[in-house]
Amino acid sequence: MLDQLRHIVTEVGTSPDLKRALDVIVRRVRDSLAVDVCSVYLVARDSGGEALDCLALQATEGLHASGVGHVSLGYDEGLVGLVATRAEPINLQDAPSHPRYKFIRDIGEEPYYAFLGVPIVQRGDMLGVLVVQSRENRRFSDEQESFLVTLAAQLAGAIRQAEASGEVFRLRGNAELTPASFQTLGLPGSPGVVFGSALVVYDAASLEAVPDREVEDAETEVAALRQAVEAVKLEFRQLKADLSRLLPGEEQALFDAFVMMLSGDSLMDGVIQRIRAGSWAPAALRDTIREHAAVFEGMQDDYLRERAEDVRDLGARILSKLQSATPIERRFAERIILVGRELSASHLAEVPTDRLVGIVSTRGSGSSHLAILARALGIPAVMGATELPVGQVDDQEIALDGYRGAVFVRPTGALREELLRLAREEAQLSQDLKGLRDLPAQTPDGVRVSMLVNIGLLADMAPSRNVGAEGIGLYRTEIPFQIRHQFPGEEDQRRIYREALDAFAPYPVILRTLDVGGDKPLSYFPIEEDNPFLGWRGIRLVLDHPEIFLTQLRAMLKANIGLGNLSILLPMISGVTELDLALTYVHQALTELAEEGWAVARPPVGVMIEVPSAVYQIDAIARRVDFLSVGTNDLTQYLLAVDRNNERVASLYDALHPAVLSAIRAIAEGGARQGKPVSVCGELAGDPMGALLLLGMGIHSLSMSAGSLPRIKWVIRSVPHARARRLLDQALSCEEPLEVRALIFDALESFGLGGLVRAGR
Ligand code: PEP
Ligand code: MG
Repeated sequence: MLDQLRHIVTEVGTSPDLKRALDVIVRRVRDSLAVDVCSVYLVARDSGGEALDCLALQATEGLHASGVGHVSLGYDEGLVGLVATRAEPINLQDAPSHPRYKFIRDIGEEPYYAFLGVPIVQRGDMLGVLVVQSRENRRFSDEQESFLVTLAAQLAGAIRQAEASGEVFRLRGNAELTPASFQTLGLPGSPGVVFGSALVVYDAASLEAVPDREVEDAETEVAALRQAVEAVKLEFRQLKADLSRLLPGEEQALFDAFVMMLSGDSLMDGVIQRIRAGSWAPAALRDTIREHAAVFEGMQDDYLRERAEDVRDLGARILSKLQSATPIERRFAERIILVGRELSASHLAEVPTDRLVGIVSTRGSGSSHLAILARALGIPAVMGATELPVGQVDDQEIALDGYRGAVFVRPTGALREELLRLAREEAQLSQDLKGLRDLPAQTPDGVRVSMLVNIGLLADMAPSRNVGAEGIGLYRTEIPFQIRHQFPGEEDQRRIYREALDAFAPYPVILRTLDVGGDKPLSYFPIEEDNPFLGWRGIRLVLDHPEIFLTQLRAMLKANIGLGNLSILLPMISGVTELDLALTYVHQALTELAEEGWAVARPPVGVMIEVPSAVYQIDAIARRVDFLSVGTNDLTQYLLAVDRNNERVASLYDALHPAVLSAIRAIAEGGARQGKPVSVCGELAGDPMGALLLLGMGIHSLSMSAGSLPRIKWVIRSVPHARARRLLDQALSCEEPLEVRALIFDALESFGLGGLVRAGR
């Protein structure tokens, strides 16, 4: 059963469009469960993708095919409607005798008694109902019911994806057929509304990630393909020769089989035909490999079925050769929106940054580092757009609403007009905000707030200066580590830090010590863990590797010579034992450098409060250091037990949760008791609603992405401190994040600042 389930899911996942995906489902389920009928009803949608209150028969094996596309049932009609309303399986021995049974003429339902319907639900969204029926007058077994429930749960994502690709596919093939645009909702990554041309980046070795693209010169690509295939053949021959003494003859024959497959006509001809029909070589290869793999997958024999994996492996090898043989020259559009399945900071290097206007990633959330970078660059971004059919949007016009996390592919008509209007308004807002650059961040009742920026790349420095930052509140030193191929040495690091200290002197620059692990990997120092966020990250890692920590501390201290604007910040401190040890290393680095004759001075040392245990030891921690900085990104993640990068639980991740707000207030009070300044460097500081509440807590130093700074300055200059304090009291008496949001939204609106969070609601 498990095997059958897996195969159905794989086949559906690789179907080119929704219709074929559904046909696979009904055919395979009917065979696997040995029933008479299997049908799929999907929730009907309007042209904008909004769900309507009815279910349409989309595929059937057993009923009359003529019903497909014609039969539809309201939620209040028939057993299918009942399954959708109740959102649970209904298993009946004698369906026609059920009061909700509805007879539908002319689809051939007469002879069937047994009925089992299960809902297809994805992340709380009803997508449709999967039904099996049988002539016999008996209940379906528990095993059959479990099979169908498990299958429906696994198919939901694939159906949604196929549904989405189907829509875009039609758009491309014949724009008149579906004049409405395709849109999908992900998560807000970085605010702003923009238009641009999608540029899909994908993993080199992953065939499934290859996007559709038109071929530019078919014969050149055919030649490149032949070359790639020859190179793979050679590799196999070589491999066979190398392993000849180690492998039994039977296994060696496998390599011959591969070479034969590559020499025969069917595989190569398929790819060449597709290239000549207009597809670029990687997508032609992807589709041909998919087709061949599906043939093996459909076989009954276990051994032959396993060969599908070999075919895919073969495809990946050819792809990687193809890519190294023909570096594809891309002509860049004027306004690029970078799109990818799992984008990271390094992908930004693939496009000219002066043309980059937006980012869409199918993974991640607003607190992922890519989103943080986008905000630093002031570029709108949408994260977690899981349902975007990435492979089919390359070169398409895309509009992004980074406030709501919405992506629109080829928007048309009134929707396009509205988006264009928003984009123009946005551009105007940015222009207006520029006027605040040289004005102080001071509330109307005279409270001065220090506006700092978070940066990680030297390239962020220019925008930070342009927005009028008064220093760096958080320099994420792991980013220069991430873009190198090995640990940077002391001198290399000194130079990087010096540049930042120099650029902002005499303003303060807070350098955070290495915070890798969790979602910040180093390619040259791989860490495999089941729970990376609870694992070896931040201070834990460097305390276990004093050589890395001391090198970094020495580089920071040396960079500060003659400038004196350095502060050092320690991440992920969970208790005083770690803190005391880290402080010992700071002392050691200072002593060593002084002994070596360097004129180093002890800089202020602070701790990031981002682990809940540190909140409860705030006095003990504050006593030991010079300042505290609240990392609301991790603090929220750990307090609410919600992975900050997991789009499935992103709706639960909310730094405006009353529990998070009370924790931050406890930190602010602890710092005040010990006479140590408290600042906030998590993303909450750059959120207009968050900044207002932090102001109310008496936190007068905020560090954020450069892109957020002008908006926050506007908030501070508009709302009196006394009002912020009253709002904080009200917010702390709320029991739910939504109540807090509604409260602060109304307050912002009353000050004419609603536009800053407009679409975010
Ligand atoms: C935080 O956790 O709030 C923070 C600022 O650090 P990072 O986002 O780099 O983990
Ligand atoms: Mg953190």
